[in-house]
Amino acid sequence: MTGITLSKPSQVRSDSPPRVSAAGRVVPTLMVSITEVEDTPANSRLSEDERVPATLISTIVHTTALLLLAFFALPEGGGTDDELTARQGPASSVVILQTLDTRDDQRFDSDAMSDQPIAVSILTQVSMATPAPVMKQEKAEDVPLELQQYLAGAGSASVEPQPLVCLPGSGGLSRRTPEGRLEYGAKYGATKESEKAVDAALAWLAAHQRGNGSWSFDLELAPCNGACRHSKKKGTESPTPVTGATGLALLAFLGAGHTQHHEGPYQETVRRGIYFLRDIAGEAGAGLDWQQGSMYGHGIALMALSEALAMGSRERIDDTDLHRLVSRGVSFSCNAQHENGSWGYVPGSPGDMTVSAWQVLSLIAAKKNRVDIHTNTLSDAKAFALSTCEEGDFWFGYKGPPGEETTTAIGLALMLYLGQSMEYTPFYNALTELADRGPKLTNVYHDYYATLALHHSRHHGWDEWNSKLREHLIRTQATKGHEAGSWHFSDRWGDVGGRLYTTAMCAMTLEIYYRYMPLYGEVEEFPL
Ligand SMILES: [Zn+2]
Repeated sequence: MTGITLSKPSQVRSDSPPRVSAAGRVVPTLMVSITEVEDTPANSRLSEDERVPATLISTIVHTTALLLLAFFALPEGGGTDDELTARQGPASSVVILQTLDTRDDQRFDSDAMSDQPIAVSILTQVSMATPAPVMKQEKAEDVPLELQQYLAGAGSASVEPQPLVCLPGSGGLSRRTPEGRLEYGAKYGATKESEKAVDAALAWLAAHQRGNGSWSFDLELAPCNGACRHSKKKGTESPTPVTGATGLALLAFLGAGHTQHHEGPYQETVRRGIYFLRDIAGEAGAGLDWQQGSMYGHGIALMALSEALAMGSRERIDDTDLHRLVSRGVSFSCNAQHENGSWGYVPGSPGDMTVSAWQVLSLIAAKKNRVDIHTNTLSDAKAFALSTCEEGDFWFGYKGPPGEETTTAIGLALMLYLGQSMEYTPFYNALTELADRGPKLTNVYHDYYATLALHHSRHHGWDEWNSKLREHLIRTQATKGHEAGSWHFSDRWGDVGGRLYTTAMCAMTLEIYYRYMPLYGEVEEFPL
């Protein structure tokens, strides 16, 4: 059966207000409202903060957790229909989503909610200052000599203007290999230095894995024991679920092709992380739960497990186990969605763009594994994202208008995953405005999602965006002591999750070239 809707406990006040900055802008935060489980599992360390009513959230979360034990004693939502019918945004046609018969990247249907792969006429519909920059060759000075030679030997991309299409292999993970890193790194703008930065970041992350296989935002804990500065912010209500920290670290390893199956320096690291998430999963009637106090934790953990599964082998017994985890986690996600299409910090509560984004991306990742998603989950999520805009202006807000730059970066990336056609000129123009504003440099949350959006759209502003952000990250990576390989920026978003969060996000940003096959590109690009 499909479409089980959680009754939201009427007495639970879970729609905590959006944070408002001193300037009066809505401020999306990385994670909200719960302390790390391993620190004080039954004792939220909430305190007064200028941004959040901490005691209220503490009460909400703990009260809700108890209530949800009862509410989640519902039969599991199966969502096992072979055909999923999704309404593609407001005022658009109905499309039929077929359940895939393979899980291969090339059959991955991130475009299943989108238009069929057809040539996108943005080159004619959108006025571009430079008509053929989308896939131009890398500047010689940006590409190491050996990569240039590699490219020359393999045949370089055409310099002729090419129409973009929604690629059959769109969003795929198939280039997360040593060869893929080399080829696609060079193709989309990595450098030898950026690859070294990725490797240094992974080494730092591996050195900060805890004895039980997890990672923590709290660097005061072993094995760091405070040797690195900028642990998670103390004395705030900032939610830092251990599942979120572990999921982020795993995603960084997976993004560079390190899995539990492939021999390599981090095979055991990744395996231990996956086992930790497996063991800490909470059984609920609605599915498996990795919240540890926040739906952030659930979404990020589920995304990591989904990508690990997609990169593995279904024939393996442990992958069968992993498939069960992912499937049950998806069930929880679908049941936890609010009726307005969003996800909040608490299951069933009206949510916001930041929490919802992790859920959507985790579900998109799960779809690579032929895991069923409730019929309307993604189309409802798309409707929510659009509801935060003013009249289709693609200027996305936190829970609704007015729009804000960080939530707009998130919203634009989400819309690409949810099938927004780039043929639509206002949408392409919104991407152009994002590129023109440039990376924020200290706000890695903004820059991560903006990079996703510009990469997936193969936007003509990519080269300028990428070179600026890439060089900034290379330049700012710590090089000394325990902090070597990590990042931290003095930024209110970065301070929430601290150095571990910042490092994982920066590593994934520098992996973008091969981490995902772009959703759009020249037709000749997709792997045969
Ligand atoms: Zn450290």
